[in-house]
Amino acid sequence: PKPVVAIVGRPNVGKSTLFNRLAGNRIAIVEDRPGVTRDRIYASSEWLTHQFHIIDTGGIEVGSEDEILFRIREQAELAIAEANAIIFVADGKEGVTPADQEVAQILFRSRKPVALAVNKVDNPDQINNIYSFYELGLGEPFAISAEHGTGIGDLLDQVMADI
Ligand code: GDP
Ligand code: MG
Repeated sequence: PKPVVAIVGRPNVGKSTLFNRLAGNRIAIVEDRPGVTRDRIYASSEWLTHQFHIIDTGGIEVGSEDEILFRIREQAELAIAEANAIIFVADGKEGVTPADQEVAQILFRSRKPVALAVNKVDNPDQINNIYSFYELGLGEPFAISAEHGTGIGDLLDQVMADI
């Protein structure tokens, strides 16, 4: 079976943009088993010789801050249960937030391989934005721009090395 890579992170960091880029023009399958896989979109993807499935998590994220945090935690737990590796996406323009720290702890404790993607690093002079992310304890942060498609090769190299 192909390994499963889940994309996790708080709302608006660019998870779905990254997912769409990785899925390319492959048709994404929406699993709608209520309560189990809601808000989770699956696609297949490949990098070099590696084929894998990717899961986009999140869906429509509305509600109070507490509700949203609960949903992110829930998605992180589901991703840990289902995935062979996790891409944790954060926002380089916003820096590290308390929600990032909380999810990072859940992921760290799971002992699943986690690659840390600092998104929205749209141009090289924003690279300094990534250094504060070392404090999440998830290893080297990878600067990416999901929108421009930069940095994704190095990120996937890390993911594939960990699987
Ligand atoms: P999600 O909620 O984590 O799935 O985030 P989305 O993929 O829906 O993106 C949230 C917002 O961030 C959208 O307005 C995107 O256009 C924007 N975004 C995503 N990736 C990038 C990026 O690499 N650079 C910039 N500047 N914006 C981005
Ligand atoms: Mg999304």
